[in-house]
Amino acid sequence: MIRRAGAAEDQGMRTALARALEGLTVVDVERIRTGCGHVRVPSAPAARGYRYVDLVGEEPPFYVRRLTAGRQTGSIMLHAPIETTSGDEAERGAPGIARASVSIDVNTIPWSGLLDVELCSGPWATLLGDALEELAALEILEPTGCPLCTA
Ligand SMILES: [Zn+2]
Repeated sequence: MIRRAGAAEDQGMRTALARALEGLTVVDVERIRTGCGHVRVPSAPAARGYRYVDLVGEEPPFYVRRLTAGRQTGSIMLHAPIETTSGDEAERGAPGIARASVSIDVNTIPWSGLLDVELCSGPWATLLGDALEELAALEILEPTGCPLCTA
């Protein structure tokens, strides 16, 4: 849904946007904005709430961390972790780089959509805020410094 906001509505949106982003610093927001969508898999991912899922098929493995806010549920996904030294699929718990996304309900939000004003001000603001805080705690890569983007 794309629409132009009036001045008063614009002010309201900024306030709502601040709600989704209130746990983040300006630097964090900038890191997410300029990030390529790849992040470093945290060390001890299980201890940080990430579950490793390998469905053993066409789909590459991924990490998932569940999120809840009130009655809303969502998750952070770290897709297809790659070991940077070998370029192979990273084993469970191994250091690697993965593509991050956030799912809320049944909707997957790609990296580029995470700071969308409509989304940040919508009914998912709390859950999205939690997801953004968690992502900000990870090492977010930029296109120029990302082994996968520059490969
Ligand atoms: Zn990248």
